[in-house]
Amino acid sequence: MTSARPEYAALNPPARRLFGTGPTTPDPRVLRALGLPVLGQFDPAFTAIMNEVSELCRFVFRTGNARAFPVSGTSRAGLEAGLCSLIEPGDRVVVVVAGRFGELLAEISRRCGAEVVAVDTAWGRVTEPDAVRAALATGRPKVLALVHGDTSTGVLQPLPDLVRLAHDRGAVVLVDAVLTLGGVPVEADGWGLDVCVAGTQKCIGCPSGMAPLTYTAAVEEMIAARRRPVQSSYLDLGQIQAYWGPDRLNHHTLPTSMTYGLREALRLIYEEGLEARWERHRRTGAALHAGIEAMGLRLFGDPAHRLPMLAIVEVPDGVSEPGVRDALLRRHHIEIMAAFGPLRGRAWRIGFMAYNAEVRNVVEFLGAFEDVLTNAGVRVPRGAGPGAAERAGGT
Ligand SMILES: *Cc1c(COP(=O)(O)O)cnc(C)c1O
Repeated sequence: MTSARPEYAALNPPARRLFGTGPTTPDPRVLRALGLPVLGQFDPAFTAIMNEVSELCRFVFRTGNARAFPVSGTSRAGLEAGLCSLIEPGDRVVVVVAGRFGELLAEISRRCGAEVVAVDTAWGRVTEPDAVRAALATGRPKVLALVHGDTSTGVLQPLPDLVRLAHDRGAVVLVDAVLTLGGVPVEADGWGLDVCVAGTQKCIGCPSGMAPLTYTAAVEEMIAARRRPVQSSYLDLGQIQAYWGPDRLNHHTLPTSMTYGLREALRLIYEEGLEARWERHRRTGAALHAGIEAMGLRLFGDPAHRLPMLAIVEVPDGVSEPGVRDALLRRHHIEIMAAFGPLRGRAWRIGFMAYNAEVRNVVEFLGAFEDVLTNAGVRVPRGAGPGAAERAGGT
């Protein structure tokens, strides 16, 4: 009797175009770097690479902080590392909640034992400084935690005024710049961000799996002066920094392949220059927003504070939200994303980030979107979207 052995075909993922909210399509250079020979994490050839990754992190965060390195894990691990290393049970933490990722900051803070004061803001709006001032005035807040660009709403939260308010009250500021770093200005030193956390798969343009972050010497001292150890061993920034710093104290086996990929993604940003990259995202976003509106569709959120790398597009009445996404994937190999919370089933989330942030990609996408929407019975003026995008994205 022979037992049937299942057959597994060689891995051959379809070549999708990732025009959702992350992961975005990595530059081929990043994919090649991921396949380079694996090194041990204490090999001097590798620790030299780690030092370069730290330098490049300082460059993208615009900081002179000694501490700038990636946490091994997705962006959420970086956010959790920052929060759980700062918060001790009973600490008061003010969290701006203006979307899904503000909710996440509040949830993580509560799990760390914080007394959370949430500044609830309607989705699609920015948070007014007065609301944050009032929340900071209650008790003695230790941390103000907030999202720079919330991927669930498409809104960019202006930071400098809110940072000043927190500092006036003696609180440190932790910012989720997961979506925004590499796509719009983020000034860790210039804005006085005490902890700033990013990710790899949005505007940095690497696959998901690491979370670059940076924090000030004052935060480092706060962590060192904790009354009790950080509850998480894996996400204890005090221990992780001892591994990334000159002492090289063993903490975990660094994912060396991901470190190569991140280094290449950061090197691409360094070569392009941050200002040029922000401008490329701005132009691509102008094309996207103009094209969507020219198709007769509505963009969600405050137009004065719209993120350039995203479009949160309202689903027209009578149209199936998942049906359109499925058709884009099947007919055009294009991925866009569903929405969360109050926007669930009511909006699509579309993004052009990093390698994908090019006007020509927007023009191609809008052609495909027109095809799929027309099939779904929406009356879209023919060619209007791509045409408007080309005009708005012109240099
Ligand atoms: C994507 C995202 C996250 C979560 O990132 P993961 O890499 O999935 O853990 C957090 N915050 C914002 C603003 C994001 O866009």
